[in-house]
Amino acid sequence: MTTFVDRVELFVAAGNGGHGCASVHREKFKPLGGPDGGNGGRGGDVVLVVDPDVTTLLDYHHSPHRKATNGKPGEGGNRSGADGTDLVLPVPDGTVVLDKKGEVLADMVGKGTVFVAARAGRGGLGNAALASPRRKAPGFALLGEPGESRDIVLELKTVADVALVGYPSAGKSSLISVLSAAKPKIADYPFTTLVPNLGVVTAGSSVFTVADVPGLIPGASEGKGLGLDFLRHVERCSVLVHVLDCATLESDRDPVSDLDVIEAELARYGGLEGRPRVVVLNKVDIPDGQDLADIIRPDLQARGYQVFDVSAVSRQGLKELSFALAKAVDAARAARPEQEATRVVIRPKAVDDAGFTVTKEGEGLFRVRGEKPERWVHQTDFNNDEAVGYLADRLNRLGVEEQLMKAGAREGDGVAIGGEDDAVVFDWEPTMMAGAEMLGRRGEDHRMETTRPAAQRRRDREAERDEALGEYQDFDPFDE
Ligand code: GDP
Ligand code: MG
Repeated sequence: MTTFVDRVELFVAAGNGGHGCASVHREKFKPLGGPDGGNGGRGGDVVLVVDPDVTTLLDYHHSPHRKATNGKPGEGGNRSGADGTDLVLPVPDGTVVLDKKGEVLADMVGKGTVFVAARAGRGGLGNAALASPRRKAPGFALLGEPGESRDIVLELKTVADVALVGYPSAGKSSLISVLSAAKPKIADYPFTTLVPNLGVVTAGSSVFTVADVPGLIPGASEGKGLGLDFLRHVERCSVLVHVLDCATLESDRDPVSDLDVIEAELARYGGLEGRPRVVVLNKVDIPDGQDLADIIRPDLQARGYQVFDVSAVSRQGLKELSFALAKAVDAARAARPEQEATRVVIRPKAVDDAGFTVTKEGEGLFRVRGEKPERWVHQTDFNNDEAVGYLADRLNRLGVEEQLMKAGAREGDGVAIGGEDDAVVFDWEPTMMAGAEMLGRRGEDHRMETTRPAAQRRRDREAERDEALGEYQDFDPFDE
């Protein structure tokens, strides 16, 4: 059995941040210059956006790997690197984004709805931005962060205003073709011969979409035939239309029990109870069909259905039908709260209040997880002692060393910062952390002490006091 594929696995990778630059200002006849390394640029995000002109996920079947561009490195002379460009991927209205485990990440309904599927890495700070009263000439810069990458799954539920249901050969496809002014390209799915037909209908000032639900047969709600796949397409419609065949050649069928069977399937699928329904008695161009329509109409009207005699061949009754559907669709739209375009961003889950966790993983092995420590590790150039000192300093201030000690870590134990696959592992030296203060001060130039103007000295004192109070956390202009 062929299955209806409206599902695609996509690998998305955001751009890496550019590295910060460590540079010292040079000018003729002025040997003592300050740090002037610029910041690296931010990478590009991978962003999904609902675009009404896109109706299939076909493009992503063809190229399922998508990557945004990297940020450029910073340069001397305080020149910042250029940001990467966001990669914008248009998706159809009604696209559901899931992770590999099947958890829904975003339900994309409404034009312009945006979902950031992979967040760009931030650019690293250059040494100019890292300079502080205490670290006047840093001899290092921060590395750009890697961009996020992940596998996601896109699933499409067609968002049609009107869904036509009925037995095979009742005339659903024929009706759509005569009702609609335009056909969005949905018939391009190479994966199956059975696709829902979609048409755009104009009636007066109303424009709405109509989809048929092929393969809806008894047992469909249990997955028989292709019914389930197509029922998913009906889920969001505002109006259901029963298309009844009044000229069936099969002697054991009658239109009213056809309707009952379809209703039973819809009921088993569930969730469609409140949806308004309209009944179409099709094929009244055939004399027997008109006779049968006349017989069953009162019964259906007595059940509360609005009933229309229609012929897809002679086009009789189409105008009345389309205006009635327009009215029902407009009413449903008016009742629905305006679909606001939403912006959804995947954020790493908060680890805990402290912003990190320390766990003992085995004899002499500890793991540190947390957004900040992991980011800081990625920003560190381990070939540069001063950069390593700066990292130790930051970790120390966050309280990582204290927690390691509480967890029972001893000198020489392994400390992994990060997840299984991208952790950086250190041999823990408590003194290294304590000594980080020293390393961090390497850029300080005491000769300047005496020449500081009073105002500058006061500012520096204030900065030092703030730091002592813990307010002077890591200054990082890219932190939100
Ligand atoms: P679906 O399976 O519900 O999509 O039905 P189709 O639209 O494919 O139609 C099935 C058959 O019924 C086709 O041979 C159509 O030509 C025929 N048919 C559809 N509508 C009418 C109609 O109004 N009058 C007549 N005489 N035949 C129709
Ligand atoms: Mg059909």
